[in-house]
Amino acid sequence: MKRLVILGSTGSIGTQALDVVDRSPEELSVVGLAAASQWELLVQQARRYGTRRIALVDEDAAAAAARDWDGDVLVGMEGVLRLVAESGADLVLNAIVGAAGLSPTVVALSEGIDVALANKETLVVGGELVMALSEATGARLVPVDSEHSALAQLIDSEPAGTVERLVLTASGGPFRGRTRAQLESVSVAEALNHPTWDMGGKITIDSATLMNKGLELIEAHHLFGIAYDRIDVVVHPQSVIHALVTLCDGAALAHLGNPDMRMPISYALHHPERVDMPVKPLDLTAIGTLSFEQPDVDAFPCLRLAREAAQAGGTAPCVLNAANEVAVEAFLNGQLPFMGIPAVIAETLERVPGGRVHSFHSLSDADERAQAVARELVSTGVPA
Ligand code: NDP
Repeated sequence: MKRLVILGSTGSIGTQALDVVDRSPEELSVVGLAAASQWELLVQQARRYGTRRIALVDEDAAAAAARDWDGDVLVGMEGVLRLVAESGADLVLNAIVGAAGLSPTVVALSEGIDVALANKETLVVGGELVMALSEATGARLVPVDSEHSALAQLIDSEPAGTVERLVLTASGGPFRGRTRAQLESVSVAEALNHPTWDMGGKITIDSATLMNKGLELIEAHHLFGIAYDRIDVVVHPQSVIHALVTLCDGAALAHLGNPDMRMPISYALHHPERVDMPVKPLDLTAIGTLSFEQPDVDAFPCLRLAREAAQAGGTAPCVLNAANEVAVEAFLNGQLPFMGIPAVIAETLERVPGGRVHSFHSLSDADERAQAVARELVSTGVPA
């Protein structure tokens, strides 16, 4: 029996993870659950899975949960970290959204607990330090992102030193094929209408701007130790091929499957075992055609900005991520047009000087400075 903590259990990944747990109740036991503010759903989940300890970031939500439920309710981000540190878990699924996911990953790895990582921002912001911590404590990071889960499965079966390039596929999002000018006036509802994946709001907007693929590029670099110029991004609208690796003898291996996040979640939770999942089997003749194209970095500059920040290294990816979080939130709240997202990120990267990452403190410092600059740009407008 694996003891499991799920952080972000009320979100898109979190609820699908509980669906995976439902199918293997003898193998997975949920010993901790955390969310930001949706206390009613969290308490309902705790009752259903027999979990005795939960954490809520929002104080009022935590107080309401404590009135309604007789289990242990921890409060604030400190509560989330205590939930992880005192869990005695075998595995923590980190499905929190945003840079807030970094510290729970750090606490889990420091305690020697393996992490099933959906929160890609952990590696975008703190990749070097996090990978070093995993190496030092022996606690593993198992990717949940479908592309990285695919890559891990492909790379694990090859001898060291044989993988030459990684290829991340991108659906292209709801605006694939549109020009920069056409993207100026798109609405929030259109941007939230993803063609192949049903996900939380932030990652859906990241997919529409292609920032999601930029964040995944950085995630792949850290997870697999491959240089950025050996990681390609290819637009593949059907989302059937999740990733490819090319090998030294000219062979290319691809990982295929219908787009369903329960597959990589199940792989991460049960690793190294595999269990039955009710995912629609792949029928290539029904799909007919798989197509591929180059990403358009003129219409979708976020992918270019992410690659540039990745290559600059140091605190630049952390600044990129912070500016993106602020800009996406502003877009969702109607304070910024769609093309304002890359504009705010580019200007924030200009204004916040990059630095070396000495410690987690340098990251929180860069994150705060970048957020402040990005917020100001949202309210005053980005200079032309
Ligand atoms: P959602 O917005 O659907 O869910 C986010 C979850 O995190 C919610 O449970 C939310 O609680 C909780 N949360 C937010 N902030 C905190 C915090 N500070 N502490 C504890 N819990 C918090 O996001 P997704 O499930 O879509 O995405 C989660 C992560 O997984 C992201 O990093 C995303 O990039 C990644 N990912 C998602 C995929 C998907 O298909 N959805 C695919 C691959 C990766 P509350 O409900 O109370 O607000």
